[in-house]
Amino acid sequence: HTTFNVKQIRKDFPILKRKVNGKPLIYFDNAATSQTPQQVIDTIVDYYSNYNANIHRGVHALSQEATDAYEQARIKIQKHFNAAKAYEIIFTSGTTHGINLVANGFSSLLKKGDEIIVSALEHHSNIVPWQMLCESTGAVLKVIPMNTNGDLVLSEFDKLLNQNTKLVFVNHISNALGTINPIETIIEKAHKVGAAVLVDGAQSCPHIKPDVQALDVDFYVCSAHKICGPTGIGMLYGKEEWLKKLPPYQGGGEMIAEVSFEKTTYADLPHKFEAGTPNVCGGIAFGAAIDYMNSIGFDAIVQYEHELLVYATKQLQNIEGLTIYGTSEHKTSVISFNVGNIHPYDIGTILDKMGIAVRTGHHCAQPIMDFYKIPGTIRASFMFYNTKEEIDIFISALKKAILMLS
Ligand code: PMP
Repeated sequence: HTTFNVKQIRKDFPILKRKVNGKPLIYFDNAATSQTPQQVIDTIVDYYSNYNANIHRGVHALSQEATDAYEQARIKIQKHFNAAKAYEIIFTSGTTHGINLVANGFSSLLKKGDEIIVSALEHHSNIVPWQMLCESTGAVLKVIPMNTNGDLVLSEFDKLLNQNTKLVFVNHISNALGTINPIETIIEKAHKVGAAVLVDGAQSCPHIKPDVQALDVDFYVCSAHKICGPTGIGMLYGKEEWLKKLPPYQGGGEMIAEVSFEKTTYADLPHKFEAGTPNVCGGIAFGAAIDYMNSIGFDAIVQYEHELLVYATKQLQNIEGLTIYGTSEHKTSVISFNVGNIHPYDIGTILDKMGIAVRTGHHCAQPIMDFYKIPGTIRASFMFYNTKEEIDIFISALKKAILMLS
């Protein structure tokens, strides 16, 4: 794709041709899971048709081909995120796994009275592991508050930082509101007191191409299924010095150097954190997804998605009684809203009858819902394969739903 041509791009996604309840599918639940282009589907079919094998152990041809493709995918991911070393990329099953791996590792490094800071905008998967870590170590959890626009209040972050702060965890983009957090500033401030920073890139990976070295971030995690890859695979980037310091997460095959009943020594990075047979096909398909995204280009993606965001926001603002949550100047193509007292679920159900997929509920971010004193929202989230025509259909369907429910 030399120029951004959404009609052409949509042909890459077979699922966009299907109907739901007799209507053409309009898929606006991209923040939950993105759709998969034919290029990635072909990679998966090719793997299972031609070189499915266990990796790193076999002398035979299939095993070597699979190992090569898996390690090539690691290098693609390394280059994409600009990690210094390929072994700083650990394959995980997804963002949640990556966060738990780091949280578990820190349980042996923290002591009572140490402090961990998270943000008010976190997904449950970036809250609960830290609460568990605090319970097991006696560390204390602190929270960077948010304001009604859905921005973090950085002046309050300054007050939370001190010599006891050991870790700061923040998402790059909020899945519930779409806010893009100022991670550059957060990382810089955290490093001044010697704290490590983990950035949850689950929502940012399809919209922003981060440079982990320029950011100087200590850990960065994401899931392939948010970036046009398959489910069940993701990655943890960790600075070499940190990955060497953290103990292994799981024991098993692949992660050892030598095993005896007296003593086991662990394998070098990245294998130390990759116990057991990995998701070989998933890793290779993750690499294919990264290739696909880069073939379109992140600059073009960001610009087009911003157009969709502005277009949809304007139309939604014209609907009486509709409230948009998350009005930060720095946001991605996620719109969370409610209409009067109508329950989000009721609107979501009627939209589904018209072939439109949106998310309803608390979006695994109950603290944000508590902040606004609402049970949940309707969330429409766009990717580069969505169109203004789809937004028009969505808006008129939404108006119909509101009429039916009021
Ligand atoms: N963090 C954020 C911000 C997310 O949006 C998600 C997925 N909704 C996760 C973490 C968890 O990702 P996964 O379920 O793929 O592990």
